[in-house]
Amino acid sequence: QVGVLAVVGRPNVGKSTLVNRILGRRAAVVEDTPGVTRDRVSYDAEWAGVDFKLVDTGGWEADVEGIDSAIASQAQIAVQLADGVVFVVDGQVGLTATDERIVRMLRSAGKPVVLAVNKSDDQAGEYMASEFWKLGLGEPYPISALHGRGVGDLLDAAVDAL
Ligand code: GDP
Ligand code: MG
Repeated sequence: QVGVLAVVGRPNVGKSTLVNRILGRRAAVVEDTPGVTRDRVSYDAEWAGVDFKLVDTGGWEADVEGIDSAIASQAQIAVQLADGVVFVVDGQVGLTATDERIVRMLRSAGKPVVLAVNKSDDQAGEYMASEFWKLGLGEPYPISALHGRGVGDLLDAAVDAL
């Protein structure tokens, strides 16, 4: 029985880009338009000799209706079915009210969470990541899913949580 790692966060923070980076191939759909990944999509992944299932989700937004609320429910289901969660935020945008809502959702789910501050493409971005300590989720891992920066350290922590 392999562990399940769910990738959650607001639309457009780079969840699918991160999933592709972890898989080493372009399996998940990346789009400049928010909300392209509509479902939970599961992939077989491996890191440091550990096999696990990696679940990409469509993003979580608060107080949405219709299709957006269906996408958010899928993200919540993904968390419920997961053994661990990678919560992705956007280091270039900074902390948003929606991020805080997601943290509350994650807290009530009670799963181990590793916090990824994506789009930390350079050193300046890495300093920005410390803002996210205030979410109370422990160490924020600055990463660039686009360039691969920091993803190894994030995965070490995420696989530990499984
Ligand atoms: P998702 O909606 O959370 O799955 O986000 P996507 O993976 O589809 O990415 C949304 C946009 O952010 C795309 O234009 C990506 O190229 C861009 N993006 C993703 N990761 C990074 C990153 O590390 N740095 C920068 N600068 N852009 C990124
Ligand atoms: Mg996506």
